Amino acid sequence: MPENVPENVSAPSAPQQLSPATLAVVAGRPARALDSELNTPVSLSATFVGGGSLGAAALGYGRFANPTWEALERTVGELEGGRSLSFASGMAAVSAALHLVPADATVLVPHGAYNGTHSLTAQLAAQGRLRVQHVDITDVAAVRGALAGLGGGRALLWLESPTNPLLEVADIAALTAAGHEHGALVVVDNTFATPLLQRPLELGADVVVHSVTKFLSGHSDVVLGAVVARDEQLLAALHAHRTFHGAIPGPLEAFLALRGIRTLPLRLERSQASAAVLARRLREHPAVARVRHPSLPDDPGHALASAQMSGYGALVSIEVAGGRAAAEAVVDAVRLWVPATSLGGVESLVERRRRHANEPVVVPEELLRLSVGVEDVEDLWTDLRQALDAARP
Ligand code: PLP
Repeated sequence: MPENVPENVSAPSAPQQLSPATLAVVAGRPARALDSELNTPVSLSATFVGGGSLGAAALGYGRFANPTWEALERTVGELEGGRSLSFASGMAAVSAALHLVPADATVLVPHGAYNGTHSLTAQLAAQGRLRVQHVDITDVAAVRGALAGLGGGRALLWLESPTNPLLEVADIAALTAAGHEHGALVVVDNTFATPLLQRPLELGADVVVHSVTKFLSGHSDVVLGAVVARDEQLLAALHAHRTFHGAIPGPLEAFLALRGIRTLPLRLERSQASAAVLARRLREHPAVARVRHPSLPDDPGHALASAQMSGYGALVSIEVAGGRAAAEAVVDAVRLWVPATSLGGVESLVERRRRHANEPVVVPEELLRLSVGVEDVEDLWTDLRQALDAARP
């Protein structure tokens, strides 16, 4: 019993275990007190008055810490089961995580990873900062072989699951174990799954990164990133990177992201249910050569996603019969779906990913990535079907 509790009074029972859907609503709030604010306000101070009793724990300066970031960070940290730091963008978070390993380390990158991660790792390799090797993260034996081939040199295993936009699913626990056997640091980009569907730290990963821009914020009005880790040394290195490279979030963006997280469970539930409906219907459409969504029983990632995730996510990728021109015709013909890059917002977006020059070549030219929003699924299907009908070979 804690010292300050009189012996004749029972200690308060252990705090209730809250589900992630509840944590999304209650985490990161100011301490509850009569007349206190329910939400952490936007704090716009570039500096904080010094000399107080907090000493080294004081916020100090607006590049070191900010109360609004901290509310967001507590929430993302609780959802992922670690401690979080927010960054100016998902790419700033990716960059900070890549800088955790020393110069000359080898980064194993999924061959179909997000194109920004591909470009940044290629740039760091060209500068001699890192070595890069592309791996098939759906093949644990191949990744293990690649790790063994490094001969014990410093390594970082970068995982993304499901990947953007191929929706390949990686066995995070098995790959993390393989990475650790070979002394590698394991980072997981959890942007597509969100902590509601998958918690990589619980599967053994060292660091999680997020493009908070996407599902967490959820309204396509914020660009923001986050990292999450448990190890104090890693967190200190990530914090130092943020402080000295300066990729700090804006307080208003942090506020908006936290406001978005409050409804993440509802948005995700709706979007991923619609995504599964659309995936099944798209498979029957003659203008569609292939549908990728882990909910489909014959999708290569289905079994693993069923075991590792608590939902299949709200991204669907399709390969349009008739190739690149037919895929572009579909994008031109949609009226409700928005032809735009990004994903994870309340509005449904469609994009031919190879229109980006830096998209990995493993992504087919005719692939369209569909980010399913929260509109009525029948309206989404009607619009998509008319666009596919128009592009039918
Ligand atoms: N990781 C993934 C999987 C992404 O899809 C993105 C952006 O699309 C990023 C990282 C980068 O995030 P941001 O655009 O917020 O910098």
